[in-house]
Amino acid sequence: MRILVTGGAGFLGSHLCDRLIRDGHDVLCVDNLFTGNRRNVEHLLGHPHFEFIRHDVVQPILLEVDWIFNLACPASPIHYQYNPVKTVKTSVLGALHMLGLAKRVRARILQASTSEVYGDPAEHPQKETYWGNVNPIGPRSCYDEGKRIAETLMTDYHRQNGVDVRIVRIFNTYGPRMAVGDGRVMSNFIVQALQGEPVTVYGDGRQTRSFCYVDDQIDGMMALMQYEGADAHEPVNVGSSEEVSMLDLLQLLSETLGRPLQTVSRPLPTDDPLRRRADTTRARERLSWQPQISLRDGLTRTVAFFRELLGD
Ligand code: NAD
Ligand code: UDP
Repeated sequence: MRILVTGGAGFLGSHLCDRLIRDGHDVLCVDNLFTGNRRNVEHLLGHPHFEFIRHDVVQPILLEVDWIFNLACPASPIHYQYNPVKTVKTSVLGALHMLGLAKRVRARILQASTSEVYGDPAEHPQKETYWGNVNPIGPRSCYDEGKRIAETLMTDYHRQNGVDVRIVRIFNTYGPRMAVGDGRVMSNFIVQALQGEPVTVYGDGRQTRSFCYVDDQIDGMMALMQYEGADAHEPVNVGSSEEVSMLDLLQLLSETLGRPLQTVSRPLPTDDPLRRRADTTRARERLSWQPQISLRDGLTRTVAFFRELLGD
């Protein structure tokens, strides 16, 4: 198949491109390189089945493809809050343009959504049927509401035009190729620790997340894209259901590195969700998917990646 990956030069997108090339597909990688990097796909650049197109999804693009993975969107709070209006445009216009393309060429399309659609959740753990608790006017809204509208558009194009859609709600995913300056907790903690700097803990560090290793995430996205059930258009959580606090994460990192870590306290960002854990019953039942890589193993692999990158 000819497969379009928007955001293909980013962290998740580049792993997805690798997987699709390995599976024998033709891959078109579209990215504006805002948070992505050509280095992430450098090893694919000469490949006869890989093409990189520098393009911004707020503009339409005409292509002939069989499948579309729409991942273009900055994912780290520091990056999506840098130009919030642009973030909204990326999610909303990006989804509209990709759906228009999918409709025209009758392609199947997957939208990368997020656990952030649940906001600061009043229900725990989060099932797909929970509608969320999202602030529409806060600093995270450009991202959260942008993704919610992207889900709305996907569902309406499905209902109104019969477009074959998939929606994956990605929970915190980490691994090799996260950018050093990404700003999310996993890369911040590891990079700071390796550079001998104090690790920045926001708030009291007792807020929780569930962290999924990148290979598991890509497997989940592929399984959803291949799923043919009558309910295939419904959102599916893909993430870990192992809930840890930021202090637990710190402890685990300290064990991985074999030494104690210094910390420095920073204020908890506005609207930072207090608790988050994926209920992955749907992914298990419909996709036979469940994560294979423990946080301890994933952390070891990610530390090894950053060690090499930083010449540690
Ligand atoms: P990332 O920042 O590494 O990748 C995003 C990619 O999109 C980058 O390559 C960036 O340059 C590109 N991009 C941004 N705006 C664009 C635009 N207007 N036009 C074209 N390209 C654009 O982040 P990631 O972690 O790889 O996230 C990929 C997708 O998964 C995003 O849609 C994100 O919202 C979603 N997601 C990720 C996580 C996670 O934990 N990694 C969690 C939830 C959702
Ligand atoms: N966080 C932290 N130190 C950092 C970066 C993040 O303590 O250097 C916290 C942040 O407040 C949040 C959690 O880690 O509670 C996860 O943050 P991240 O930005 O990785 O993801 P998100 O908040 O979008 O889930």
